Parts: sequence; C-alpha cells; structure tokens
Amino acid sequence: MVLLLFGGACLAELPPDGRAQSAAAYPEAEAAAAWKGLAAGYVRQALKDRTLDKDPVLNARVDTVMDAVGAAAAAIDSRFARSSWSAILIDDFGLGAAAFPGAVILVDAKFVRRLQLNDDELALIFSHEAAHVLAGHAAAKLAFMADFVGKDKLPTARAALVEFFAKDSYVAVFQPEARQQEREADRVGAAIFLASAYDVPKALGLFDKLAKLETPEVGQAGDTHDAALVRKQIIAGVIAELRRDQVRRGLQPR
Ligand SMILES: [Zn+2]
Repeated sequence: MVLLLFGGACLAELPPDGRAQSAAAYPEAEAAAAWKGLAAGYVRQALKDRTLDKDPVLNARVDTVMDAVGAAAAAIDSRFARSSWSAILIDDFGLGAAAFPGAVILVDAKFVRRLQLNDDELALIFSHEAAHVLAGHAAAKLAFMADFVGKDKLPTARAALVEFFAKDSYVAVFQPEARQQEREADRVGAAIFLASAYDVPKALGLFDKLAKLETPEVGQAGDTHDAALVRKQIIAGVIAELRRDQVRRGLQPR
C-alpha cells in the first residue's frame, strides 16, 4: 500500500501557498473525507487484528511528541490552530508512518522499535508527516487521478482513491510528483520541527540509521525519496537557513 514516509512514499500534493489547482480537483472536503475513510479503515483493521500497539511507555512518548509537533504545526500555519493531532501506533503497519487529512498519523510500531527512535527522531518524522497534511498532498494525489484517468470515470474522490491503489502503474506515473512532494514535506517539515524545539543533531541521526538500511535503489530515478544522507544534508541546510532568518529578523525590527 502507500503513503508511507521515511521508508517509502507518502501522501499527495499542493503547497500551502497554492500552486494552481487542477480543474479536475475534487472539493477539498470530499477529498479529505475519502482519505479519512482510508485511515479509519486501517484503524478498524488494526483493532480487528489486535495490532494496535499497547505499550504504555511508547504510547506516552508518541503522544507527547505528537502534541509538541502539532503545536508547532499550528504555530507556523494558522489553518491548523485548532487541529487536534493524533499519532496511532500499529504493529506491522508496514509503512514507517503515513499522514492523513484530519491530522492523523499512523505509525509502524515495529519501525520505531527497529530503529530505536528517540523523541527527537520521532519529532522529525511527525513533522515531515504533518507537512504532507499542511501542504495538501493527499488532495493533490486525487486531482492527479482525475486528470490522468478522467473525472467521467472517477466521479468521486473516493473512486479516485480506490483506483489509485488498484494499479501499480498509477504510482509509477505519479512518481515524479511524489518525489517533489517528499522534498516539499522535508522542507516544510524542517520548519515545523524547528518550531517544536526538539534537538536538531539528535533528530538528524535518523538519517544515519536509515542510510544503513538503504538498498541501492533508494534515491534513484524510480524512487519517491532521495537517499537518506542527501535528505539529511538538505534538512540541515533548511534548518540553518531558517535560523539565520530568525536571527536577522530578531536584529532588524521592522
Ligand atoms: Zn513523506
């Protein structure tokens, strides 16, 4: 399946400042409802399979980090000022993490344990996932489907979502846009992360862990993500730039 993250793909696109929206785009509320339905489906399945992670310590850590990242997202984007974010740990979710409209992030508990993620690394991952939501990537994925297949064949957002996951060939065609979305999520995520006040060097250690697990295909033309160490460098650069900007603004009152 899909929309993963620090492991595979993620959601769909549209920057907060709004690139021209496709005429084929579905109404925002309808697109969001379709994705929320998918997230709810994963949670229902996890309940049925008894794979919702019950470790109280890990759940408490995840809740604390999600609260901080959610507050940071609200601080940089006022549309999310009243959003209540939740991160839900599912054993063997299989995707690293995935974000959904409605401020829900599903997290693979096995991925967290395997990488022995610290709170700073969790904050960076949640920031990246939240960035996908802020940037409207899910809705853009459905707009792509309406453009590519035709809105006559996919009259509803739900139909577009179901169809997207029906064939691997769509994912392949969407790949260049998916990679742009991943880069945007890393950039916007860096801003959210910085506002969350977690530790930057500790968080960036995530990419050293990911690099060790990487296959040679990661970062190649067909992949949605750049290689881990490339991402590490880019995110570090964005954070350094944001900090310089903060200092400049601090020194130069308008
Ligand atoms: Zn992503």
